[in-house]
Order: sequence, then C-alpha cells, then structure tokens
Amino acid sequence: MQGLMQNDPINLVSILQHAARWHSDSEIVTNSVEGGIHRETYAEAYQRTAQLAHALKELGVEEGDRIATMGWNTWRHLECWYAIAGVGAISHTLNPRLSTEQLHYIVNHAEDKLLLVDISFVPIIQANIKQLPTLEAVVVMTDEAHMPEDDLGIPVLCYETLLQGKATEYGWLSLPEDQPSSLCYTSGTTGDPKGVLYSHRSNIFHAYAASGVEGFNANRTDSFLMIVPMFHANSWGLAFSLPMMGAKMVLTGPHMDGASVYQIITDEEVNKSAAVPTVWSMLLDHLNQNNLQVPKLEETTIGGSAAPRSMIVEFNEKYNVDVLHAWGMTEMSPLGSLNRTKMYLDKIPADQVLDYNCKQGRPTFGVDLKIVDDDGNELPRDGETTGRLMAKGAWVIERYYKKEESALENGWLDTGDIASIDPLGFMQITDRAKDVIKSGGEWISSVDVENAAVAHPAIQIAACIGVAHPKWEERPLLIVQTYPDQEVSTKDIMSLLSETFAKWQLPEDIIYIDEIPLTATGKVDKKPLRAQYQDYLTPA
Ligand code: AMP
Repeated sequence: MQGLMQNDPINLVSILQHAARWHSDSEIVTNSVEGGIHRETYAEAYQRTAQLAHALKELGVEEGDRIATMGWNTWRHLECWYAIAGVGAISHTLNPRLSTEQLHYIVNHAEDKLLLVDISFVPIIQANIKQLPTLEAVVVMTDEAHMPEDDLGIPVLCYETLLQGKATEYGWLSLPEDQPSSLCYTSGTTGDPKGVLYSHRSNIFHAYAASGVEGFNANRTDSFLMIVPMFHANSWGLAFSLPMMGAKMVLTGPHMDGASVYQIITDEEVNKSAAVPTVWSMLLDHLNQNNLQVPKLEETTIGGSAAPRSMIVEFNEKYNVDVLHAWGMTEMSPLGSLNRTKMYLDKIPADQVLDYNCKQGRPTFGVDLKIVDDDGNELPRDGETTGRLMAKGAWVIERYYKKEESALENGWLDTGDIASIDPLGFMQITDRAKDVIKSGGEWISSVDVENAAVAHPAIQIAACIGVAHPKWEERPLLIVQTYPDQEVSTKDIMSLLSETFAKWQLPEDIIYIDEIPLTATGKVDKKPLRAQYQDYLTPA
C-alpha cells in the first residue's frame, strides 16, 4: 500500500514560482557589474527566468546538458540557475579564481556546452577558449550597451537581447526529483578537482533545512546580504532558501570590499548576511578605520573556515551583531552544521558561552554526524575526544561525478575534518586531517594556533603548518601576514600565544611574508607553504 497523498515531483523552479506568487513584492537588489544598483521583484525574476528558458531551448539546450556559468552574485546569475535547472539541464558554476589548468580540466570533464559569463570574466574566457573545445557558444550576462568586442571564435551572444520578446510563461517539465540540477567542483587542493552533482531533491531538502530556525532563519521580514559567491559551494543554498522564504535578497555583484559591503548593508537595511571570515575582516577593518557602525545588522553567518574567536567577540561587543558559526563542504550542498544557541547557555557565565559560540554547532534534521577512530569505531561525545568527522544525509554526496566508486565508508562520508562533539551536541572542528601537526606523538591543532594568532591586531592572516623536525618528527611553524604598515615582533606573538598554549604547543619559529597564498575559494592555501618551508628546521 502507498500513502494516498499528492506526489508531484519537487522541482527547483517551484521555489521561484512560489516567491513570485506569494512574495511578488520582495526584491532582489544587486550592486551591478556594470555599475549602479539594480532592482527587480521575485515576480519579475520569475518572468525573466521563463524568457531565459525559452532562449536556452532555442540555443539547443537539452535535458542533462551541462551549462556553465562564471558570474558574480547578480539577478541575472540567479535567473540562470533557475532557468537551466528548470529546462532539465545542469548549471555548472565555474570559480573565476581557478588556475588555468583547473579551469580547463573542469570544463572539459563536465563537457560544458554553453557558458554564461559576466563581462568581468570575458578576458579569462578569451585567454582560454582554445582549450575549452566543448563550448558551442558564450552568452555574456549584460545588455547590448556593455557587450564586449572580443572575438572568441564561437558565437558570443547578449543575455538581454536573448530575452527580448520571449514569452514570460514557460511550460516547465515535470522532472523526476533526482534529476541533476547543478554541478560544483571541489577546489581540489590535492589531485584533480572532483565534481559534486546536486539534484532537485537534495537542493530542496537543503533549502528547507537552511532556511529553518536551526539554519539561517531568514524570512520575508529579513533583508539578507548573500555575499558567499554562487561559484563557491552552491552559495550555501541561499539562492534557494531566500526566495523560498520570501526574504529580500541583496547581492554584492563584484563589490565585496569593506567599503562596498558597508554601503549596501546601510542602504538596503540589511539585517542578516553570510560570508567567509576574509570578507568579514575586510568589513571590520573598514568600520574600525572609519569609526562606523552597522546598527541594522543583527546577525552574520561565518563559515568556510573557522571563525576566529576575536572576530566573534568584535562583532558581539563592538557592533552588537550576533555571529552564527557554520560548517560545511561542497560535498554537503554545503551545510553540515550551524551554531544556534541552546537553553543551557542562558545559565552559564558569558566567557563559557563564548566557548560554545566558537564551535561549529549542530546539524539540522536531514544530516547526521559522528566522530570515529581510524578503524571506524564511533568515539564518545564528551567534548574532549577528537576523531574523523563522518557525515550522512539527504544532501550529502554519494559519489563524485563520473566516478564508478562510492565516496562513502560504510554509508558515511569521511569529511576529512577532525572534530569533537560535546554532550550538548555542539560539534567543534579541531583541524583538517591533513593539517593537524604531530609533535613528539602529541597532536597540535593548526586551527587553534592560527585563531589565537589573528587575535593580535597587527596580524591579518596566519597559517600554521607542521614541518619536519629531527627530534619531534614535526613541529609547528607559524607564517603570518601583517596588515599593511603594521609590525609585530616574534616575542609579542609568542607571549600572546603563551596565554592559551603549553610551551610544547608553541610554534618553533615565526615567519613573516607579504602575502599568504589563498585558494580559489579564499582559504589559506597551505600546499605551497609546505613545499617551501618543509625543510626549514632541518636544512641540508
Ligand atoms: P569547501 O568544500 O571548499 O567549502 O571546503 C570545505 C572545508 O572547509 C571543510 O571540510 C572544512 O575543512 C572547512 N570549513 C568549512 N567551514 C568551516 C568552519 N566553520 N570551521 C572550520 N573549517 C571549516
């Protein structure tokens, strides 16, 4: 026997359709690529998405085709996501900061047929077009007035011209729920990048969870600044959960510097937002240097890398902004956990509450987490024991795109992170498995050392790596980048770190460099640092 309820397959376009019908007044506001603020309502976005769907069909897009986008967070990029998935094709986000080798590998591996690109990135495509033979045409996401003159050797079409005169309704297909909707490659610090293929079903489950009270909790009363790029980890699901809940969606376009972020937060009365720590430190610098406040901003979500304790304190105490610490990965759509408070925290001293706030939190319903030892045995949830963090759930990968073998170990994904889980259920990432430092048989968390170092006002970015040591096997080496025109002595940093760490956990030495390398997703790239400094303590 089956349940006797309606069983229409769920489809991503239905989110935008819902927003258009029930939140037709809510806006998508973009600090545009061409300059100036662009506004449209969800109702207009839905009509233009239908127009784009007609245009894509005319261009020969078929179900299952991979259609690449390389764009900032804009209203047009959003329309692309919905139209591509709506016609049964797969929207494949390309990170413009990828190395040329990675870009070639990813586009060719996905066999992208069409590319929709922002004017800012046309030069990247121009320089690489010969190595991207699967592309049949390029659509530039702009109007005729801003069309570039570049000759790419394949048709270059104008987005706005394609939409002109098309019907504003589209007969959306009834797609199976497990139809793939979108494709995102992991940044791949080792080996080739790997494709994560999301489905309509996984994205919708994820969007429900992400928008709930244990998630971003964004709704029609919120003005939400979505800074996290659509080309990084599925925009943390916000491109789906904000329209689902009718929230006003504010988009940065290419303008992600501190001054621009401050301006749009102020002008659009933004009360919630989400971004990686690097973006927040640019905003905080701008606020501090110019003696500004952001009185409307109530809450920021910080994820992608660990939110430093000093950043959480600064937001709380200086700017009266709550921080929601979140953890996830591309393979998890990406939300794995968010740190919403619990009743117990009302009853304990503030500094202990802060200890909890610094953790990465709990999964929402739909995902489960556990920590295990090297043999796969589950470890106690005592807040002390650390182990490999494993995940499973409705929006967690089963296997990578075009791979025969499952990515799972006994049904669970090994996230590659090391974590503890405390008795209240707060999970805390202590390190990436490959970054943790083993000194004389004892583990030192590189994340903890980095977080403590960036609490120093002169330090902008810190990277702690394990380097070979003749006696202790590995010792921590701290590499720091200071703010321009700022200086700090090794003695000062060591004395700051000594407040938190035992002597044997302190870095063996500290190196100062002008620019710490970052990955395409803005995280510290330790690979070149390891290559350069591996023998620092054991010179030949
Ligand atoms: P990506 O797939 O590029 O988003 O990278 C996922 C990885 O980023 C995770 O496996 C973690 O190592 C790291 N990460 C994401 N969020 C956090 C966080 N809040 N704290 C610490 N590490 C994080």
